[in-house]
Amino acid sequence: MSDPNNCLFCKIGSGKIPSYKVYEDDDLLAFLDIAPIRDGHVLIIPKSHHDYFDDLPEELAAKIIVLAQKMAKVQKRLYGVKRVGIMFTGVDVEHAHCHVVPMVKASDITSRQYITNDDLEFAPRPHADAEELSVISKQIQAGLSA
Ligand SMILES: [Zn+2]
Repeated sequence: MSDPNNCLFCKIGSGKIPSYKVYEDDDLLAFLDIAPIRDGHVLIIPKSHHDYFDDLPEELAAKIIVLAQKMAKVQKRLYGVKRVGIMFTGVDVEHAHCHVVPMVKASDITSRQYITNDDLEFAPRPHADAEELSVISKQIQAGLSA
């Protein structure tokens, strides 16, 4: 297991590092990805440290999916999208996190397998504007408590 004392998402989960929070309970925290694929791109994390999705206790994994369902309904209302995609990639931070992404285009979450142009290069996602993130996090919070 990776070191929880040196884990970005443990620090966000405990509030030591601030985030654009949209939801919190005893076990979970949901906040905006600061480098969103689309507006309203949310990360759901357990507050306890588990490296990967498959390391999560079943009950905790289920809670994350149930919250992702609620989140998706809010995102559909806010952004007028037909579908919301979720993924656990395990990339970047070794603390299980669920991406919840309003799908504007089918390619917003893309498998390399479907890309026919092999010369494709991926740029790091740009960070969103702080003011914009603040507005979006409040809209999603309000949507969840409606
Ligand atoms: Zn952690």
